[in-house]
Formats: sequence, C-alpha cells, structure tokens
Amino acid sequence: MEFGPSCASGMILDGPVLATLATGLGLVMLIIWVLRRESFPGRALFVGTIAGMAWWLMGASLEMAVPTLGCKLAAAVLTWPAIALVPVTWMLFHLRLCLGLGPWRRPVTLIIVASTVVPVLLMVLSNPWHGLFYGPLTRVDIVDGRPSGVFDHGPLFYLTLGVLSLYMLASLGIAGIAAFSTARAARATRPLMLLLLTVSAVPFLTNLGYSLFGVTLFGFDPTPYTFALALVMLAWSMYGNRSFDLAAIARDVLFFNTSDPVLVSNSSGEMIGLNPAADRIFHDLNAKAAPDILSQIEPDITWVLGSGLPKKRKNVRLGNRVFDLRTLPIWHPLAARHAAMGAVIVMTDVTDVRAHADRLEATQARLHEQLATVNRLRVAAEQAALLDPLTMLGNRRSLQQRFKALEGKPLLLLVMDIDHFKTINDRFGHQAGDRVLCHFARIVEETLPREISLFRTGGEEFELLCPDFDEAQIVKLLKKITAKLAQDPDLRSSDRSTVTFSAGIARRPDDGITLIALERAADARLYQAKRNGRARSVGRDGSQQVLSPMAIGNVIRLHSDTYANNAAGMSESRTERDA
Ligand code: GH3
Ligand code: MG
Ligand code: MG
Repeated sequence: MEFGPSCASGMILDGPVLATLATGLGLVMLIIWVLRRESFPGRALFVGTIAGMAWWLMGASLEMAVPTLGCKLAAAVLTWPAIALVPVTWMLFHLRLCLGLGPWRRPVTLIIVASTVVPVLLMVLSNPWHGLFYGPLTRVDIVDGRPSGVFDHGPLFYLTLGVLSLYMLASLGIAGIAAFSTARAARATRPLMLLLLTVSAVPFLTNLGYSLFGVTLFGFDPTPYTFALALVMLAWSMYGNRSFDLAAIARDVLFFNTSDPVLVSNSSGEMIGLNPAADRIFHDLNAKAAPDILSQIEPDITWVLGSGLPKKRKNVRLGNRVFDLRTLPIWHPLAARHAAMGAVIVMTDVTDVRAHADRLEATQARLHEQLATVNRLRVAAEQAALLDPLTMLGNRRSLQQRFKALEGKPLLLLVMDIDHFKTINDRFGHQAGDRVLCHFARIVEETLPREISLFRTGGEEFELLCPDFDEAQIVKLLKKITAKLAQDPDLRSSDRSTVTFSAGIARRPDDGITLIALERAADARLYQAKRNGRARSVGRDGSQQVLSPMAIGNVIRLHSDTYANNAAGMSESRTERDA
C-alpha cells in the first residue's frame, strides 16, 4: 500500500470519477448554503455529516481514479475516517434534532466522534501487518466495466461495519420515535420526522445491499451516493418545513396564547379560524349571542376585503363586554394591487379600561362642579369682603383696591363725616340712625358721576375718590349733593329734622402719594371744618364752603322698606356679634 507519483500518473479520470468528485464538491456547496441560512437545532452536527460525506465522496473518486491496488488501498485509508465520521455525527444529529438531547459541550461531542473515528483509522492503517481488515484476496478487477478495488473483507471490517450500522440503526430508531410517538413530536413536525426516517433508511438499506449482496455503482459502494442525495433532500426540506423557523413559531405562539381574541376570515367573509381566546369569548357570550357578534364584525370585514386596507373601530359592545376592533387585510401574495384574500380581526377587550375611564370621567365631572361651586363661593366671599353690608357701598378694603388701580394718577380724596350723628342715635334710636346712613349713601351715590366712587370707611364716615378732578369741580359737586339731600323725601311730612355733614379735601400728588398721606391731610381739613362750626368743607388752601343741611324727618319716621330691610339685616348681625 503506497501512494506515490505512480498513482498520479496512471489516473483514470472517466465519467464515474468526475461524477463522484462533482457530487462531493456539490456537498461542499451545500455546507456553504446551509451555513449561510438561519440555524436550527443540531445544525453543526448536520454540517459535520455533510462534510464527512463530501470527504467520503472525494476519497471514493480518488480510489476510483488511481490505477493500482496499492494506490487504491492508500485512498481507502484516507477515506475511512470519513466513513466512520458520517454515521456517528448522523446519530448525534438525530439525538439533537429529534429528542432535543444535547447540546453537549464541544469536547464531549469531539470525544464521542474521535472514539469511533480513531480506532477505525488505526485498524485500516495497521492492516498491512495483520490483514484482518482487508484480507489477502483483495485485488483490482473489472467491475461494472471499469477497474475497481475488490476487497476481501476481514473480521475487523465486519466489526467496523457492525458498529457503524448500529449508529445508523440508532438514527433510524430515534427518527422513528420522533415520527410516531405522539408524546414527542408536535403535529407540525411529524412530516419532517417521517422524512428524516426515510432519508436515514435509504443509505442504510443501500449499505446493507453492498455489504451483504455486493450491489455496486460504478464498481463502487453505492452508499455515499444515496446518502449524499438524502442529505440534499433533507437540507432542502429543513428550510421548506417551518418547524424550525423561529419567527413563524413565535407568531403561532402569539396567536395561540394572546388574551386578545383573534378571528381569521376568508375572502368570502366566512370565519375559518379562531384562536383560543376568541373561542372562549364565543363560549362565554353563549351561543345565542354569536350571530349578533358576527353581524357586528361583518361590516368591517366587508370593508377591509373590499378596500384591501386595514380598519379600526372603537367601543364595540358584544354581550356585556366592550372591544376595540382591528381588522387587517391578508394580502394576496401575487396580486399586484392590495387585493385581500382574507382578513384577521384582532379584538382588544377594553371593558375594564372603559369602566375605569367612565368612573374617572364621572369623578372628574364631580370635581369640576365642586370646584365651580368653590369658585362661586370664593368670588361671592371676595365681593362680600369688599362691601359694607348696611349701605352696600364699597368698604375700606374696596377703597384700597380702587386706590391701587388709580396708581400714579392725579386725584382728589374727600373725607365726609356726618355731624353730631351720635345725637340722632340717641334721639331716634339706632335703627333710625341706620336709615339716615343708608339714605345719605343712596343720595350721594346717585348724584356722583361714574368716575367718582363712594366708600363707607367708618360708622358715619364716607370717602370719595375722584380721579382727574379739580377742587372747583368737587365743590360744585358737593353743592349739587347737598341740594339733593336738602329735599324731603316725603313732602307730606311735617317733621323738619335735619342733619349736616363736614368734609375735608386732599389732592394727589400735592398732599402726598399714598392713601394714608392723603387721608391724613383730608382728615386734618375735616377737623378744621368741625372746629370751624361743622356743615362745611375745607379745601387745600383752607377755603371753606358751607354745606346746607340734609332733611331726615321722613327718613327717621317712615318705615320705608328699602331702609328697614337694610337696617334689619344690620341689627341682626349686630345682635349676633353682641351675643
Ligand atoms: P362729630 O360731629 O364730632 O362727628 O360728632 P359725632 O357724634 O358724629 O361723632 P362721634 O364719633 O362722637 O360719634 C359717632 C357715632 O356714630 C357714634 C356711633 O354710635 C354712631 N354710629 C357709628 N356707626 C353706626 C351705625 O352703623 N349705625 C348707627 N345707627 N350709628 C352708628
Ligand atoms: Mg366720625
Ligand atoms: Mg360725626
């Protein structure tokens, strides 16, 4: 057994040799193709098997091409590791793909493979010494019309064949379990397992035919050819079968496990598929409701099938539940335009979400209402805080606000105080005093132009804010006021009681800028008026203007409703305060 230049020189490169070599190279291409696609369980072992097969075929083509027995034996030695490699990787691939055993760490796999391959290699290498693998009758003979190695198989050959056959038998058994055991394989992977069984069976039977009955192809063991064909078929169907397409499996998992009901309709609008969640819905909503549900979904399906476009619809009530519907077209894969050949209806149960939202909305509405009430009350309270309850004039706080609004403007401030008011209370009673205050307030306010505002700032003390007025205008106005006050509201009355008032005038900016400064100046002039005999106003230059008395005979005697009501309110609040 030697492999030298003589082997190369006498090579016969005929059809069978080239066909075998081409098959081997074809398998190398298959390896590249498989490695460039997505992985599946046991792919490395599958690739290992194809690699072994390619090696085997190339070794076989070499053995067929070389002329002498020595060359052929040398080629056989080179080929045997591959022959041993194929069944063992094939079996490990079956364990991994069919039963999910492994993946073991690479060293473990390598040890299993090496423990088969190395002894076989040692046996063939040492054959020249013992002759127990190929016996002495091994020769070159014409088989199938070409010179071929005719091997005298010895006991070690049959031992090897036995062991390798055991691997092949094991592969068959594993594929059989996977294909026929309902507990093992999912329904969808069953056809793939059956194919695997067939693919394993063919080379096994071919090998039996060769080993036991001498069946040959091109004068050679036909096993590698059938095996190669089987591997190509298997690789092809691995990718055709979607059992290991993870994305497709994930879609299935989603369809079967989502809590959203999913319905599938064909192009005629008939329901051809429901996921378990949809099944449950139909079951829960009882059979009678089912036609009603379908009639609600139908318009969407019809629209989607007609337009080829998706459609969304919210708040569809089915039984006692509420759903958002999404209807998606399934487009025809070959049609140019978006023609729907079916539709998928995804139902999202929004009953609880809706209920929560409704509750939230109701709460929100209630809060809004409460807030509006609070606001109304706040505004009323604010307004009340600015009003004097007896005369309904603005109070001191209101005066401060108005003064702030007039910031920077020239203005006149007038302080008015009713003279000897205490005696009115003393003579006619407090209620009569109240009526006088109200009457005074009403008449003054009626007489004022719009720009001037009147405030009640103390018991019988009032203030006027007059923006952009000069003193002469105000003195004129005071005359107008006193003239009005002098008229008796009821001419039939015989009571000629009167009361006078005094006033002090201050001007911004001449007397100061702030309210306090102006009030101080006006007060000083008011007291000057009091000191000078009352019933007069005192201006900035000390000039005095006599103010005629106010007729109050009827005001204090007649129980006019307007005054009585105000006075009653006033005295009630007073009683409360006193209590
Ligand atoms: P003068 O001319 O110096 O101003 O004397 P006067 O009596 O008007 O002044 P005084 O400050 O001594 O008295 C004011 C009185 O006004 C005392 C109080 O009883 C009375 N008064 C204050 N507020 C009210 C009220 O709301 N209603 C009534 N009826 N009287 C009031
Ligand atoms: Mg006073
Ligand atoms: Mg007074």
